[in-house]
Amino acid sequence: EGRKEGRKEAGGAMAAAGPERPGSGGVCLLGPAPGAPSCPHGPALLFMKTGQGREEGRRFYACSACRDRKDCNFFQWEDEKVSEARLAAREEYNRNHQPSFTHRQNVDRYKNFVLLPLSKRRFCQECQQLLLPAEWEKHSDHQFLCDISTAQLKSPSQLLYPLENKKTNAQYLFADRSCQFLLNLLMDLGFRRVLSVGTPRLHEMIQSKASQEDFSVRSLLLDIDFRYSQFYTEDEFCHYNMFNHHFFGGEAARETCRKFLCEENGERVIMVTDPPFGGLVEALASSFKKLMAMWKETEKEGHDKKEMPMFWIFPYFFESRILDFFPSFSMMDYQVDYDNHALYKHGKTGRRQSPVRIFTNLTPSMIVLPEEEGYRFCTVCQRYVSSGNQHCEICNSCTSKDGRRWKHCVLCKKCVKPSWFHCNNCNCCTLQKHSCEKTDAGCFVCGKAGHKRSACPSLSRA
Ligand code: SAH
Ligand code: ZN
Ligand code: ZN
Ligand code: ZN
Ligand code: ZN
Repeated sequence: EGRKEGRKEAGGAMAAAGPERPGSGGVCLLGPAPGAPSCPHGPALLFMKTGQGREEGRRFYACSACRDRKDCNFFQWEDEKVSEARLAAREEYNRNHQPSFTHRQNVDRYKNFVLLPLSKRRFCQECQQLLLPAEWEKHSDHQFLCDISTAQLKSPSQLLYPLENKKTNAQYLFADRSCQFLLNLLMDLGFRRVLSVGTPRLHEMIQSKASQEDFSVRSLLLDIDFRYSQFYTEDEFCHYNMFNHHFFGGEAARETCRKFLCEENGERVIMVTDPPFGGLVEALASSFKKLMAMWKETEKEGHDKKEMPMFWIFPYFFESRILDFFPSFSMMDYQVDYDNHALYKHGKTGRRQSPVRIFTNLTPSMIVLPEEEGYRFCTVCQRYVSSGNQHCEICNSCTSKDGRRWKHCVLCKKCVKPSWFHCNNCNCCTLQKHSCEKTDAGCFVCGKAGHKRSACPSLSRA
């Protein structure tokens, strides 16, 4: 549940409840602000205290990337006077909290590493670092892996420990089936370049196929996990923060990204992103709009009215939030599965239903979902739907969001989850087991009181 429920945990900026929780004594994001101070994760975001209490309406800066104060405790009131001494100390702190090797150094180290015979190729598990023989001594009391093969170097997401416990990274890796599906899908759609934002495993699959012959897809990985710089050159990986659109590598890295987005030789680009689910949708949307603008600025004919094609992978209960920011997007029924997430894993015996979906600005009818997994095409809706998703004649749409068959409520005038019933007290459909009295904590999705996110009526945005 870690990734899904991360938002409930109080802490740094990412836990900020956002404008969807008015009156709960929370915090709302105002966004990136010009002249914002920086923490080791780039420019901080501007927030405002909401709800009752002395400090209501007071604005402050906090780290954009870290939900956990333990990972980054940057905090500054907007109107706070910061002394020269503190500014200097902060700058030094930020410098000291950069990775010990630069990306360039890591690329050189890699070149030396692959020249070593197998018997001298070690990977330190504690430092999550490829070791050169001269460094063995320093890591002598650390656990390490030996005989690192070329195949292992080509799948760093298997070699590196997924940072799933760190709320900040929330690394959940695609199951092979889902990753293969995504890659086949975007190839069938004719894309030849993939901007992989927080999708190291998709990037890795593309990279390792590209090293084989007659595979013409290229990928650029943007991710905050700097460990990947040990395996990819500056043309393959940019250290990037998707909550404030910060390129740690500065103008050169930004230029790499810009160049990649130029559709030379008619190589069409698609962006694929799978952000941590605890992230603030508005912060992500703001960064993604900037990446879209970068693409648009490459000034290709016909770009004027179009958007950069995108797959945003996120749980279905964020549908209305995503559509608020990207009205051109629609949610696909495909259930994305993960390797290291017990809940979203495709089991051997029957499957757990993953709540994770693909949101895209491509025409839904073009997104062909695998029939062998039960998806079918609804000719009325003009899109593929999951096997349990029945076309409702009254709504005139395939209304299920979670893959189960939903039922129509004539009083609510819409389809609702099968487990719900119509409560005349509340005047809406909800769980059988609910208290008609409103609870004080608002819903994460719509901000209204009286129900939790899982029971949010706005999830069925008809
Ligand atoms: N399913 C994907 C991984 C998604 S997990 C795959 O298998 O390829 C989320 C990813 O986002 C991780 O790679 C994590 O390192 C990255 N990430 C987390 N916070 C980030 C941030 N602030 N900026 C950029 N990337 C981030
Ligand atoms: Zn920070
Ligand atoms: Zn339908
Ligand atoms: Zn209906
Ligand atoms: Zn009802």
